Amino acid sequence: MVEEITVFLAMSSPYSDLIRQLQRLHTLCSVTGILGWDEQVNLPPDSADLRAEQMALMAELSHEASVNPAIGEALQALESGDVKLSSDERVVVREARRDFDRRVRLPGEFVTEQTRHSSAGYHAWTRAKPANDFAGYAPFLTKHVELAKREAEYQGWGDRAYDFAIDKHDPGFTAATIEVVFGELREGLVPLVKRIATSPVKADRARLRGFPVEAQAKFLREVTDRIGFNYQRGRIDVSPHPFCEGSGADVRMTTCYDIDDPMNSLFGAIHETGHGMYEQGLPLAHHATPLGQHAGMAMHESQSRMWENQVGRSRGFWRYFEPRYREEFGSQLAHVSSEDLYLAVNAVQPTLIRVASDEVHYNLHIILRFELEQKLFSGELTVEELPRAWNDLCEAILGRRPTTDTEGMLQDVHWSGGAFGYFPSYCLGNMISAQLWQTLTEQVAGVEDDFARGKFGRLLEWLQTNVHSQGRRYSALELVQRVTGAPLSPRPLLAYLEKRYGNLYGV
Ligand code: ZN
Repeated sequence: MVEEITVFLAMSSPYSDLIRQLQRLHTLCSVTGILGWDEQVNLPPDSADLRAEQMALMAELSHEASVNPAIGEALQALESGDVKLSSDERVVVREARRDFDRRVRLPGEFVTEQTRHSSAGYHAWTRAKPANDFAGYAPFLTKHVELAKREAEYQGWGDRAYDFAIDKHDPGFTAATIEVVFGELREGLVPLVKRIATSPVKADRARLRGFPVEAQAKFLREVTDRIGFNYQRGRIDVSPHPFCEGSGADVRMTTCYDIDDPMNSLFGAIHETGHGMYEQGLPLAHHATPLGQHAGMAMHESQSRMWENQVGRSRGFWRYFEPRYREEFGSQLAHVSSEDLYLAVNAVQPTLIRVASDEVHYNLHIILRFELEQKLFSGELTVEELPRAWNDLCEAILGRRPTTDTEGMLQDVHWSGGAFGYFPSYCLGNMISAQLWQTLTEQVAGVEDDFARGKFGRLLEWLQTNVHSQGRRYSALELVQRVTGAPLSPRPLLAYLEKRYGNLYGV
């Protein structure tokens, strides 16, 4: 009887009302996520129309659930001061308020227009990119910029539309703060890149050819399992573009294979595993609330990049995995020495294509996009002027000039769906991962030696304790300050790149 009363009281409190609504929204979103995953992985070719209908209905239901007045009423009651809240509950209320306000400020017709245009823009881009047809794509991009500015206006950020675009992905960051750290990073990277280019040491990834897909899949499964992805609460499949979807109890990641570029599949999979382990490490008990959600895309990217780069490209990692790699690919590696294999893993070669870039050049690709996005939003640059501006800046930063827009401003998918302010997350993620890594290696002695013994548990535990378990309690900037004792800086990343690549290339 007593228990029943407790349950009744708990069920009728404003906090439990809020949780019930968030739970419903989370469940709807997770169903949409699975449908989206299935679309990329399993969908028969002629079933796209049915899937589009299913997705549209789910989007409608999710939107309704996300602006349900019951959420606003519960939040109001919880903010009135009449209800005593724990510190966890205060975080949930603060973040749920932020999400709710942002959703209700957008008129329904605007959300529909934006969703439609996002899909139209994506399809226009898939046609324009292979055809090198900037003119056919430009009107879609122009409208995307217009919609993004309108969205910022609805949110009360009309005079800082680009800041709003950034804040959507990474709360707390602004263009001004990013400009400072990117400026310092660029200054440090350009001379390093030049020195590596003059090194007599040359990496040759092209020698790794003819790696059968089945054996790649087997090895990749072993690696991702060993570093700590929980296959009881997730899986890996194949899709044209690798991604990671879902959280908590069900994390789906994908990879794609190329028999003549095995490093691409392997490091793509380790990258997605980093994303996946972050999602699996978020507190399950809070899975539907902001405490069970990640702290922005830069923090997310820091997790994937740390496993991909600091771990996957380390000597220790290869000391442990190389014998197994050779067991699986004996004939392909017969004339490749251990040092050449390690060099292939850490090849530094300039390319015009961001996704094919090594970790030294990668940040320069992002700095280029960040500068152009800022100018697009400030009006300093029109969409029509973009291809030329892209090529000029590419030549200035990367020392190479694209000869087509296909390998220039048409190469990325992001803008085609209206995702502005997203690119900086990649580079900020690299910085965060290096800064966390520096602190971690100071606090956990011999963690790199663990890798050579195939042990990755101490690293994962440290990340779970310091980052994953915090959910959205802190912004990425706050979390970096708390964990490392210093504000976000490009210096740990520069020091890490200098150490690894300076040594390897003898420069
Ligand atoms: Zn990623």
